Amino acid sequence: MRLMHPEPSAAVAAFLKGRHGAFIDGQIVSDGDVGLPVYDPATGNVIAQVATSHEALVQRAVDSAHAAFSERRWRGVRPADRERILLRFADLVERDAEFLAELETREQGKSIGISRQVEVNGTIDWMRYAAGLATKITGMTMDLSIPTPPGTRSTAMTRREPIGVVAGIVPWNFPLTIAAWKIMPALAAGCTIVLKPSELTPLTALYLAGLASEAGVPNGVFNIVTGDANTGRALVASPKVAKISFTGSTRAGVEIGISAMKRLARVTLELGGKNPAIVLDDADPVATAAGLIAGGFFNGGQVCAAASRLYVTPGIFDRLGAELQSAVSSLTIGSGLDLSAHVGPLVSSSHRDKVASYISEAEGAGAKLIRGGQTPGNGGYFVSPALVVNPEPQLRLLSEEIFGPVLAMVRVADAEEALRLANDTPYGLAASVWTQNLKQAMDLTDRIEAGTVWVNTHVPIDPAMPFGGYKASGLGRDFGTQWAEAYTEEKSICFVA
Ligand code: NAD
Repeated sequence: MRLMHPEPSAAVAAFLKGRHGAFIDGQIVSDGDVGLPVYDPATGNVIAQVATSHEALVQRAVDSAHAAFSERRWRGVRPADRERILLRFADLVERDAEFLAELETREQGKSIGISRQVEVNGTIDWMRYAAGLATKITGMTMDLSIPTPPGTRSTAMTRREPIGVVAGIVPWNFPLTIAAWKIMPALAAGCTIVLKPSELTPLTALYLAGLASEAGVPNGVFNIVTGDANTGRALVASPKVAKISFTGSTRAGVEIGISAMKRLARVTLELGGKNPAIVLDDADPVATAAGLIAGGFFNGGQVCAAASRLYVTPGIFDRLGAELQSAVSSLTIGSGLDLSAHVGPLVSSSHRDKVASYISEAEGAGAKLIRGGQTPGNGGYFVSPALVVNPEPQLRLLSEEIFGPVLAMVRVADAEEALRLANDTPYGLAASVWTQNLKQAMDLTDRIEAGTVWVNTHVPIDPAMPFGGYKASGLGRDFGTQWAEAYTEEKSICFVA
């Protein structure tokens, strides 16, 4: 099968050839460090080199952000001006939308349609929502019950103050969007930030740094360090980092949490999932199949909240199975730049091998497998999507996060068994319930242990809707009107008259 994969546009080609590395005090700093290659997942070719930030450079980035914070270069800016600058930052992302969408597809592999609609346009909406929070950070006033000394009158108020230097650590599945999820609430709150993008997909975040400067974010307020987990470890361990906002695997999240607790740095952790979908007899099989295909295979299943385990009651099992089977077998595979392809490459060769290992293990155990289209025989990181029907309960694909295009469908006796299996996991990120029965939907949404539960859909997230994990899927919430508060400390001030 021939791969449709056009050459980069002139603007993207010129950017790829440029010098890439840490961004500190408004400058690209690479210090002649060893370059980390960035690969195009559709071809396996190296498209750029990015210098790794060693420990001393990480410290320099943190010192710069700390100086910017201490000198009140950003927290001293009027909230209305912070909001205006952040809105201008979003306008610049909109101006360069097509460039960013192409760059994202070239480094991450995702469909250009997803890059345009979700990664870029969605990010702009998120950025504007968060920018607006800069003028809405408020405290409370309260009358006190215990006058001290007795007979005096007292009143008190609270203030939300920016927490200090934030370390924002980002995974590779939505590199631009998740970078914005770190930068924007931190800056809205008046913090400064050192961002570490994934070593696999650093390019769009590096481009964002230039846009932030152009928008008027002062030097040192938004710095970037580049590199792998060791660069991240140096950042997390830096004593001047007051708060760590991490999105990534549960394994790394636990390590970061332990490191942060040694000096009681604040942490928000957005981690992995093994997300169930419960389908009951009265669901619409056609709409449910379409929703689960989107929920399971969107971005090649490289979505923390992706549908992964389907628990289906007997009255709809065969009909839904037939719909899913026909949909999966007609999925086509290709480059993210080929708009006719339904599923693109996975992000890296090692991730492709990991995802493929779950499928071959199921095959080896004699599971019934329905596969999607043929993979192009080039050097790209493609895996043909798979639906696994009634796998043996001990198979890893039912318990571990796969983060790829694999759906497992399990027949259950009733809603109670579905609920028991759905909750039988260390994770608790997201889940969905498919039914026309409002009472059943309300009962199940109440009892599912997950930070987000959808009814008759599986995937929408929104700046207005808090998002985060129960159990091993994380700590804290992103989005919603309280989003920026996670980047503040609350101070009580008491007046006695
Ligand atoms: P990962 O944990 O391997 O890496 C994430 C980032 O952390 C990278 O930048 C990496 O270099 C850095 N890192 C890794 N170990 C570190 C450590 N010990 N200290 C400091 N930094 C470290 O995750 P990934 O493979 O890039 O991303 C996939 C994971 O992200 C999946 O588990 C997915 O579920 C999760 N994710 C969660 C959400 C959410 O909102 N809950 C969203 C997207 C992705």
